[in-house]
Amino acid sequence: MKTVHEVAERYGVTDAFMALALDKIGFSHARPDTPLSAATIHRFEAEWGDKIRAKRPAAQPGFTSETDIAPTAARAARQPKPHVMRVAHSKVTAGRDASGRVVKRLLDYPVRIHAIDAAGTNDGDPWNGEVVPGAVHFYDGGSETGPPAACGWVRVRAVLGDEFVPADEPELENQCSLCAQIVAAGKGFRTPPHERSYRSPFCEDYLRVQIDGAVAVKNCRLRDFHDGPHRAHDGSEWSIGVDDYVPAPDELGRRITKAS
Ligand SMILES: [Zn+2]
Ligand SMILES: [Zn+2]
Repeated sequence: MKTVHEVAERYGVTDAFMALALDKIGFSHARPDTPLSAATIHRFEAEWGDKIRAKRPAAQPGFTSETDIAPTAARAARQPKPHVMRVAHSKVTAGRDASGRVVKRLLDYPVRIHAIDAAGTNDGDPWNGEVVPGAVHFYDGGSETGPPAACGWVRVRAVLGDEFVPADEPELENQCSLCAQIVAAGKGFRTPPHERSYRSPFCEDYLRVQIDGAVAVKNCRLRDFHDGPHRAHDGSEWSIGVDDYVPAPDELGRRITKAS
């Protein structure tokens, strides 16, 4: 019998995707080393085979020499990835362990699943870039604490060893649609703490303008990955720069020019 991991490699998908896809055909709690019967693999192929192959990038043309070995999608999928976007929960509950101590627990049904690049948090990635379905790491502290999710909206209380695989219809899969959108776009990764001097969940775009000849610096106060134009505290807005700058209410009538 082949294991979940072996079948995942054959299809060039992650173990986490395999677990989700198997769950959809009624085979739950699949781990990478779970053996799969021929019947289960057959059902998997019937339900998912064409969908996976359809999503694969088309084979690169140009490998004409017989001695050239075309890189397969499976090999690309096995490239080591320093950062894995992981499933994150913004709410947890409490229970007692065997010795009666109060411990954090995952909710059976999370309100909404977010994504996080755990490597970019102070705790780091507990699984060093490996996908470990079902594993969980809780962040210290109470509610409304913890590192921000990829969407920048919520604080994450627990991160799972599972990979966050953005769904085509995130709402139906209980995924945060902004997180799904960001991960699908290949964004949301954060610089690990030892590689940066500070972190910010904010946009951090800024604009230098001259107002009646005096240079002012406008800092966008919106969250990371926000939609629409940048906006400073005083209400001024811009998308590109001075050319589309919309003055703050108290700047109306004043002379606004580029700051060199
Ligand atoms: Zn989110
Ligand atoms: Zn902004």
